Parts: sequence; C-alpha cells; structure tokens
Amino acid sequence: MDIPSVVENAQQPIALLNGGANLAQNIRKLVQAAKGSAASTAQITELTLELQQKLIDAQQAQSALLNDLLDLKSEMMQMDRRLELETRYQLHETPAGAQVLVLRPERHDGEPLHYICPTCADAAKKSILQPQGTGKRCPACDTFFPFEPDGGGSGYSTTKFIGR
Ligand SMILES: [Zn+2]
Repeated sequence: MDIPSVVENAQQPIALLNGGANLAQNIRKLVQAAKGSAASTAQITELTLELQQKLIDAQQAQSALLNDLLDLKSEMMQMDRRLELETRYQLHETPAGAQVLVLRPERHDGEPLHYICPTCADAAKKSILQPQGTGKRCPACDTFFPFEPDGGGSGYSTTKFIGR
C-alpha cells in the first residue's frame, strides 16, 4: 500500500457519496412534485432503495479506505523505526566472527553500549542481545551470537536455561 493508491481508493467513497447526494436531491424534487400520485410514489420508492444501496456501498468503500490508511500508517511507523535503527547502529563483527549490530558511540543518547539482533533489526524490531555464556542471545528470535572465540560455543544448549 502506497500513498498514491490510497488517494486513488479514496475517490470511490467520494464519488459514491456525490452520487448519493444527487439521488437525494432528485428524491426531494419528486416528493415536492408528486402530490401523492401512484406513479411518483413508485419512482420515489425505487430511488430511495437506490440511495440506500449507494450509502451501503459508500460505507464499505469507506471502511476499505480506513484499512488502507491504517496499513499505510503502520508501514510508515515501521520505516521510521528502521531508519532509527540504521542511523543509530552499525554492523560489528564479534571476536568469534558473528555479525551483530552495535550502538554507534556518537548516537548513544545516554544509553549504555549494547548490541542488537541484525535479523530482528531487518524487520524494524529493536531486540537487545542478552549475555549468555560465551556470547549473547536475542530474546526475540532466540538466535545465539558467539562473542568469545574458541571453546564454549560447541555443545551449548538452550535447554540448560529453560525453567531456571
Ligand atoms: Zn533476533
């Protein structure tokens, strides 16, 4: 969903509502001119039903449009978050050769130095790696990143830490 297509979709409820307003005007004119004649009454009933259908269509188009707008808003929020992560963190290789993202010292904004998960950052999610044994683990996606080279990494089991 992008802005041009949301704007395009917005034309539908507007057109439907304009059509409805014209219908309502025609109905009013007919009612004024009718003076209770049977032919006019049938015509008025028909136009009233048509107007009802137009309002239902407009309502559906409006709620579809609202969904589009909500989608767009969450996409924009995600873009903002991704941009924040891209500007505040940089790729860092641990001594054990794992790739993580580290807070740029010039952009720490009072936060202590920490690492975040690159996989979660790709999904615009900031997940701070937590120390575990010889490395750190992402609490969101459970990926383990070795930090200390040699030993400790092999045979390391997550089950060891479950139910502590
Ligand atoms: Zn993660």
